[in-house]
Amino acid sequence: MTPHMHLYILASGSKGNAAVVEGPEGSVLVDCGLSRRELHRRADVVGCDLGRVCAVLVTHEHGDHTSGLSVICNHFDGPVYATAGTAGARAHLTRLPFTLVDHDCTLQLGGMTIHAFPLSHDVADPMCFRFEVFEDGELADAIAWATDTGKLTNEALELLQGCRILGIEANHDSQMLATGPYPGYLKARVAGTRGHLSNDQAAEALPLLVTDDTETIVAMHISQKNNRPSLAARALADAVDARFVEGSKTEARTKDGLLTVCVSSQDEPLVIW
Ligand SMILES: [Zn+2]
Ligand SMILES: [Zn+2]
Repeated sequence: MTPHMHLYILASGSKGNAAVVEGPEGSVLVDCGLSRRELHRRADVVGCDLGRVCAVLVTHEHGDHTSGLSVICNHFDGPVYATAGTAGARAHLTRLPFTLVDHDCTLQLGGMTIHAFPLSHDVADPMCFRFEVFEDGELADAIAWATDTGKLTNEALELLQGCRILGIEANHDSQMLATGPYPGYLKARVAGTRGHLSNDQAAEALPLLVTDDTETIVAMHISQKNNRPSLAARALADAVDARFVEGSKTEARTKDGLLTVCVSSQDEPLVIW
């Protein structure tokens, strides 16, 4: 595959999420759990042109994905897509001008074909997305990720497969979660099938998802309390037999240099070309 799209992960984690997929004819913003000011600041840092955003996609109602949405909607004329479950789930969302879609819909936006797929999370009706670009009828590029899911649904396993850029939730290290500061009910929620994927769960899924087309695997939604970026990176790197780049604890590469493992961050935006 050759890069026809670029991924800007402006924030990833339980304190805020926002990502932009830049396609050939426009960009799509996925979630907005940042203030408008911070969204623009981070986009500027990495050279992401928010003026190209032609649509917003919302994965689910949790505040770390929606806290900035109402302000964004005040300044944005394009469609904001969400499931009916998400749109009706919280008072601060019910007033927003959503375009309602199903969690298995297909959209055409910015020169990209976007397939939604359902997740398993303790919310009304969550979804995530696979972005594709076709050239002369052939698949030319694919990006997908899944976060905020306690397990990968069959649909997710199918649509995450064979992407050039694959993002996968590596929320917690199971040992750190078990011995960490969260109260028991929260530990059970995070580790449950409607919670978040652990490092080990993400690593176990990789052999099913990575193909010769995969160039970058990025660990996402890493907990600041129950994980460390280096642990998430190590789990994913081990699963694909990648070695850490000299001097780095969070970037690894396979021997042939064709596959890179990296981590996204709560505070620093990440660009993947
Ligand atoms: Zn989240
Ligand atoms: Zn969530």
